Order: sequence, then C-alpha cells, then structure tokens
Amino acid sequence: MNLILLGPPGAGKGTQSVLLEKRFDIPQISTGDMLRAAVKSSTPMGVKAKAFMDAGDLVPDEVVVGIVRERLQEPDCADGFILDGFPRTVAQADALKESLEQLSKKLDAVVSLKVDTDALVERLTGRRTCKSCGKGFHLKFDPPTADGSCSACGGELMQRDDDHEITIRRRMDTYDQQTAPLEDYYRKDELLLPVNGMGAIEEVQKDIISGIQAS
Ligand code: ADP
Ligand code: ADP
Ligand code: ZN
Repeated sequence: MNLILLGPPGAGKGTQSVLLEKRFDIPQISTGDMLRAAVKSSTPMGVKAKAFMDAGDLVPDEVVVGIVRERLQEPDCADGFILDGFPRTVAQADALKESLEQLSKKLDAVVSLKVDTDALVERLTGRRTCKSCGKGFHLKFDPPTADGSCSACGGELMQRDDDHEITIRRRMDTYDQQTAPLEDYYRKDELLLPVNGMGAIEEVQKDIISGIQAS
C-alpha cells in the first residue's frame, strides 16, 4: 500500500503515520524527521535546511525531492510506504509522479486530514517529542508519564524549535499558499481521501483505514 498523508502542520500526519506503519508493516517516510536528523548532525543538507525550517518556510524542492527519491528505492519500501509531509508543493508532486513511474509503483490514496485552525494551534503548542526515541506526545491529548518523561523509553521530552506561535502562523500560511493546492491536484487524479481529523487519535485512525479499504 502506497500512501500520502496530507494536511496542515499539527493535523496529525506523524501520529497517524506511526499507527499505519505498525498496522500495515510499511515504513513511514517523514521528510520533516529526515531534515531534523540532518540538522542535528550538521550535514551540508542540514546546514542548508535549518534557516528555512526555523523561519517556517519550505526547504527548496530539489533538496527534499532528492532525499525522497533515494528513500523510495530502499528495500523496505518494496511492499509500500507512507509519505508524511511530502509532497508539499506541486513541483514535488510532479517529481514524485516521475519517480514512482520509474520505479513502476502507484499511489493508492492521498489521505487529507481536515482540522480547524484553532485546534491546529492547540495541538502544535502542546506537542512534545522524546529526545531519545522520537516518540510524539501532546501535553493534553496524548500525555507522557506523570513526571513528564517518555512512556516508551523514559527519555526526556523536547519542544520543536518551530512549534512557537510566530513560526506556527508562518507555517500555516506556507501550507495554505504552497501545499493546499495539492488537494485539487490529487482530486483530479482521483486519489484524494478527505478524513475528518478532529476526533480522537484512535477514531481518526479507524476512519483512515475504513476509507482506504473502501477506495
Ligand atoms: P503533524 O505531523 O501533522 O504536524 P502530529 O502528528 O505531530 O501532526 O500531531 C500534532 C500534535 O497533536 C501532537 O502533539 C499529537 O500528539 C497531537 N495529536 C495528533 N492527533 C491528534 C488528535 N486526533 N487529537 C488530539 N491531538 C492530536
Ligand atoms: P509538521 O509536522 O508541522 O507538518 P514537518 O515536521 O513535516 O512539520 O516539517 C517541518 C519543516 O521541515 C517544515 O516547516 C519545512 O521547513 C521542512 N519540510 C518538511 N518537509 C518538507 C517538504 N516536503 N518540502 C519542503 N520543506 C519541508
Ligand atoms: Zn522515548
């Protein structure tokens, strides 16, 4: 199963991708996670990407297109993949189409998570991530242990540099301007599967799975 998870920052793409990864035993490919790893280890790509990410802007298409193209050729993508946070522009979607054609792969669905702006802001300001294992939490909606550590590994939690009010707003604008047009793009390709992302995490997961199975 070859899936894309589309949606504004905070919609639940990462949360739902991790659940889908377990359920279908196919890898989550998060360009955000890959870019943050590159920033952390100060690779040339990370150094270049950091300023864009801190500003809430998109990293240039050629950078992300290159990393996704390579990642899709890894053997663990043979039975499927979940793209989380890619594509984010029409140019990226075009490049993905070309890569998939070359690899004789086809998309099965583009899950589009719909969440109100107020809820997005609340989700992003309360988002925390484990420094050690990368597991995601929310202070209110998906809380860590009582002492504020990771429930999976006991690690310390951190807040992303870009999850602060001003950058959140900028990322929302970036989404509206550059990524939202992908809904029409994939609707035309008859791949778009809109899912209400406002429910609890498990409810949204159920709706995604039933949507995929019906499509
Ligand atoms: P995205 O990857 O789309 O930016 P995340 O999956 O990181 O979004 O979710 C953003 C935050 O909202 C996280 O803290 C996560 O725990 C929380 N969250 C995700 N899904 C839901 C949901 N259905 N209801 C409430 N909070 C959620
Ligand atoms: P969110 O979970 O809030 O949707 P991500 O973790 O997916 O955010 O992405 C964080 C940042 O990494 C983005 O604001 C952007 O700067 C960069 N980024 C991630 N994916 C892409 C992409 N496909 N194209 C360009 N920039 C990207
Ligand atoms: Zn952890």
